[in-house]
Amino acid sequence: MTKDDSAVPRSQALFARAKAVSPGGVNSPVRAFRAVGGTPRFMASSSGAFLTDVDGNRYVDLVSSWGPMLLGHAHPEVIAAVNQTVSRGTSFGTPSEPEVLLAEEIVARTPVEEVRLVSSGTEATMSAIRLARGFTGRDLIIKFAGCYHGHVDALLAEAGSGLVTLGLPGTPGVPKDVAAATVVLPYNDRAAVEAAFAEYGDQVACLITEAAAGNMGAVPPLPGFNAFLADICSKNGALFISDEVMTGFRVSRSGHWGLDGAVEGWKPDLLTFGKVMGGGFPAAAFGGRADIMEHLAPVGPVYQAGTLSGNPVATTAGLTTLRLANDEVYARLDHTAAQIGSMASEALTAEGVEHLVQGAGNLFSIFWGVDEAVTSFAQAQKQESHRYGAFFHAMLEAGVYLPPSAFEAWFVSAAHDDQALNIIAAALPAAARAAAEAQPDSAPTIQ
Ligand code: PLP
Repeated sequence: MTKDDSAVPRSQALFARAKAVSPGGVNSPVRAFRAVGGTPRFMASSSGAFLTDVDGNRYVDLVSSWGPMLLGHAHPEVIAAVNQTVSRGTSFGTPSEPEVLLAEEIVARTPVEEVRLVSSGTEATMSAIRLARGFTGRDLIIKFAGCYHGHVDALLAEAGSGLVTLGLPGTPGVPKDVAAATVVLPYNDRAAVEAAFAEYGDQVACLITEAAAGNMGAVPPLPGFNAFLADICSKNGALFISDEVMTGFRVSRSGHWGLDGAVEGWKPDLLTFGKVMGGGFPAAAFGGRADIMEHLAPVGPVYQAGTLSGNPVATTAGLTTLRLANDEVYARLDHTAAQIGSMASEALTAEGVEHLVQGAGNLFSIFWGVDEAVTSFAQAQKQESHRYGAFFHAMLEAGVYLPPSAFEAWFVSAAHDDQALNIIAAALPAAARAAAEAQPDSAPTIQ
């Protein structure tokens, strides 16, 4: 290594090497800093509310691995349970006890009667729509613009998350026939849903929605919207799939359904889960009515399988996380999210930046240059997202790691304490000033 090389931050050097061997230097597009510019930080370790990068910089983490780290990083009880399990072997390719315990915990917390474990949220939604098609004998799927359900062919049209971050309306590689079997509607728009069912009612296999949208920024369902969806699906013989990959076990012990369906007295036919239920390992699930789930192989004809599904290490991490996620944890998450949201709002107001902090349970995000509630993807896209890059980098410099996109939710953990909140509070005034000064034409420098 030359003298000059040694002055290059290790994140930058690793990113250059990563780009030589993988597309864009990342293994998932949202990790790249494309929307905000600069070099992604390569993390080396994590603990509680903090991440530490390979250059030794420490950050308060407001991404929480995009949701899973509900209890904070490297929670001692999760790590101990994982270590104990790992020492007995990492994968058997047979049923094992932790997967039964995790399935029982999911059934106890949610409206699902039976559950199938998989390894990613994408697998969960992909399998749920296959099951819905197999069960109903119909092909059409309804989804909402701005909702992201993983990188499933049929579900990528007008999706949120990385697609909106990168400005992609869809993706090449999805066969026309597959895209044609997906009807995309505006979120929170009852009239559009009614019109779609009036036109295609007897062809619709399922309607899938995020239980509360978190992938176009945080956009909650309008009061009664999910109940309306459950009802109209039922009247038309279509299945209602509530995607709780992001909200499940995060916004309440029973996910978003705990905030609406459990109170209002309705249930989705199928639900999908991921993130928190894996405790930081690849575990996800789909589940629902027993009569539907029994259409899955080996009982029924709809095929679905996975070499590592129900992996003992992943299910142990998830089970330990869920067992620790009690009412106190959820109260703490709600409180912390509200505190950070109002701290950010105060700082932005002080600098005269028009904005809206919007929440869906304890998921929240900031909409820039917006003065009324955002209820749809079209509205979310109109925000002044150019302000976010400047805000993001000022926060990063001051030791706060935010999602590298204005269209992603912020995730808190139960480990965010006064120390973490003080660092955020100290970072906000300069970041708000940077957001105020940002110009629309200040495009991020893509590395
Ligand atoms: N569904 C929702 C609501 C999500 O937010 C995500 C990922 O962010 C997925 C599905 C896909 O999950 P995964 O990234 O584990 O495939």
